[in-house]
Amino acid sequence: MSHLQPEMITSRVGYFPGSVNVGVVLGESGAILVDSGLDAQTAKKIKKGLDAMAQPLVAIVQTHAHADHFGGNAYLLGCWPDALVYAPPLEEAIIRCPLLEPIYLGMGAQPLPELRNKFLLAEASRVDRILPTEGKVEIDGVSFTILSLPGHSWQQVGLVCDDICFAADSYFGEETLEKHKLPFLIDAHETILSLVKLVETNYTGYLPGHGPYTTAVEPILTRNIHGHRRLMDMIESILAEERTLEQGLALLCERLQLSLENMTGYVLYRTAFMGYLVGLLREERIRYRFAANQLLWSKIE
Ligand SMILES: [Zn+2]
Repeated sequence: MSHLQPEMITSRVGYFPGSVNVGVVLGESGAILVDSGLDAQTAKKIKKGLDAMAQPLVAIVQTHAHADHFGGNAYLLGCWPDALVYAPPLEEAIIRCPLLEPIYLGMGAQPLPELRNKFLLAEASRVDRILPTEGKVEIDGVSFTILSLPGHSWQQVGLVCDDICFAADSYFGEETLEKHKLPFLIDAHETILSLVKLVETNYTGYLPGHGPYTTAVEPILTRNIHGHRRLMDMIESILAEERTLEQGLALLCERLQLSLENMTGYVLYRTAFMGYLVGLLREERIRYRFAANQLLWSKIE
């Protein structure tokens, strides 16, 4: 395939389907993208798709700063140097300084060479405008409603245009959920609050970052909420005995039949596990203490 063809949902709102969906909204003078995909290879296909539609790129709106959502920026901004990049606070810092992603995943230490791969380390991009995390923003004559959807990352936002909701990674499609088993998040409690917030909306359609477009979102949102609740219950039961984070993670992997075999998988699952611990702490279901120079986690009886 020489270029990606966008799937249009309304006359001006659509998306380039892929392992990471890239939203497209036609503005007054060109196209606005919601995220940009993993890398230059994806971005080249998007460029050809926009060229085929005779739409220059006027803006990229980022939902959050994971490498697979902004890795296409560098190539696209090289083609269209006047396009503006919008990103939420904090997320924007990581987009400008992408080494921060392997840094935080690696517990703040100098990232190991194995962590410097394109899934964790995208090419840097400028950010021109900071998005508010709630409210409205107008870009190239198009009005977007911004939804604060934290939990999967610190300041993730969703965007609504013409009643179509770009939901970012607030929820995952069925296939992605099954594949990952332990979905990436930084705070399970906030992730669930964001999902509940989406359940209470009633937009015409919803597009997640990973998964199919749908007009009936409630079943998959419920499935995501149950999945997070089930993992929280499982971790809580593992902590019926005091465990270190590493012990807890190993036991959870065993129960989920997940195997940790490389550094990338390990740091992503370890961070997600910590995100579930944070969620359980916030719900006052677990506690921690220090003993024999170890940080020990346990269930509150
Ligand atoms: Zn993400």
